Amino acid sequence: MISEVALQRIVGLRFSVIYFPLWYVDCSHEGGREFVLLDAVGQSPVQAIPDGDPILNKLRGNDTRKSFQFSELRFLPFRCPNCGWAFPFRPLSILHFCPTCRHLFREKEGEWAELTYSVIPSGEDPPPKNPLWVPFWRCRTRLESSGERMETMADLHRLAPPPRVVDPNRESRKPIYFYIPAVKFRNPQTIHNLGSRLTFVQPDLNLGSFEDGSHPLTAGGSLAVEDAQDLGLIILGALIPQANRKARAWMQECRVELQDPQLLYFPFSRVDLFWKEMITGISFQHNALSEDLPEPQR
Ligand SMILES: [Zn+2]
Repeated sequence: MISEVALQRIVGLRFSVIYFPLWYVDCSHEGGREFVLLDAVGQSPVQAIPDGDPILNKLRGNDTRKSFQFSELRFLPFRCPNCGWAFPFRPLSILHFCPTCRHLFREKEGEWAELTYSVIPSGEDPPPKNPLWVPFWRCRTRLESSGERMETMADLHRLAPPPRVVDPNRESRKPIYFYIPAVKFRNPQTIHNLGSRLTFVQPDLNLGSFEDGSHPLTAGGSLAVEDAQDLGLIILGALIPQANRKARAWMQECRVELQDPQLLYFPFSRVDLFWKEMITGISFQHNALSEDLPEPQR
């Protein structure tokens, strides 16, 4: 038990314990005595041990006699529970988008759980051919430091100057949204850059859905919302100018609460070596994604 917890801490992942049956065999023969562990499924020897007593004592001990519950090892078919087509396999993805029926799923306690998402229309007419849809988390954000709370865009502009002329009255009614890619990139810096640039722009967005019958090309969702929410302070740090010492001191003690996560797919079009977002212009190099993209379906 102790070693399992230590390992979990090192790797940062939760492992499952799998119970596997072994035979303990005490062999006496003319040449002497030996102890062997046999694989009880394949019947092949696993290991010979010089001294069987430690294992035998454990087996005879009271702890072993206590009843306990085995959890069942189950395999979840890697296909869309809605339409039955296989999900595109991307080793790092935790959000699985079905390009056939356009439903999105995540594994939860051994079952597929459906997630809701929205799509940001490209605004171009006719719509672009084969855009890449990249998922972002958008979270309602509250900042708190030295007893002072900030939760509207007007509040945030006191710390970080707005990118354009704004109407303060309107801004005082607008919540602060932080954006973080739901995708891992080869260089983690790309996640911070895209997140802070989109957060800085605070785009006014119309939320839509994918067209019926379309087979959208999506980047795999590989950054969980829990991990994204840990990046709040980094995004805030990127918004506040280095020269603003007062704001930076305020930020040192700041608690960043990211709430009500929504998953939004943004359209990116290929421009030379880059994928460029079609509304805000934020971009990343085409080979920056951690996972290869599948061939687009036409
Ligand atoms: Zn499906």
